[in-house]
Amino acid sequence: MKVVLATGNKGKLAELRHMLEGSAFQVLPQSDFGVPEAEETGLSFVENAILKARHAAAHTGLPAIADDSGIEVEALNGAPGIYSARYAGRHGDSRANNDKLLAALAGLPEGERGARFYCVMVFLRHAEDPTPVIAEGAWTGRILEAPRGEGGFGYDPLFFDPALGRSAAELDPAEKNRISHRARALAQLRARLVSDQ
Ligand code: IMP
Repeated sequence: MKVVLATGNKGKLAELRHMLEGSAFQVLPQSDFGVPEAEETGLSFVENAILKARHAAAHTGLPAIADDSGIEVEALNGAPGIYSARYAGRHGDSRANNDKLLAALAGLPEGERGARFYCVMVFLRHAEDPTPVIAEGAWTGRILEAPRGEGGFGYDPLFFDPALGRSAAELDPAEKNRISHRARALAQLRARLVSDQ
């Protein structure tokens, strides 16, 4: 079965293809169909993921998978949350986003710097599907006082996993892909899709 992936991100496509190997699903990027970006007007991760999947399904006539992710910081009541990519104003400016987060938490002791990465992943059989398959994954840790590590992207240099004793940017990609919020959401989605087949 062909499934459209509602993202232009090549890394996510590769991860998803890998996770769905051996299943009946063939994942194709929405760019193959000229689908424009959906407007993310929801107020929660799950709403935005459904908006993106519905948009891709409506444009292609195919079942669709979409995800939405971000970082939630306890001391900021869950901000930046769904606004993680544009926390400092400009979409995808990681440097500015990280500087703003460090400034927002300035002076807070370690015990008050708790945070988690969160990812929701949805599958819609068609654009009007009233029962989306919804999977989620979280990765808990805390925000460092200064960036550490060179790998990853986005907030990775500021996100510290106490169990591993390293920041997300200090993990090699394979390690991150085993434990991240996205990996956990994907594994849950895969299990549900395969058991539904
Ligand atoms: P999206 O799911 O591609 O919309 O990503 C939302 C934003 O959340 C990204 O632009 C990053 O700022 C942040 N984010 C999501 N996942 C990660 C991650 O694994 N590491 C670092 N930042 C992330």
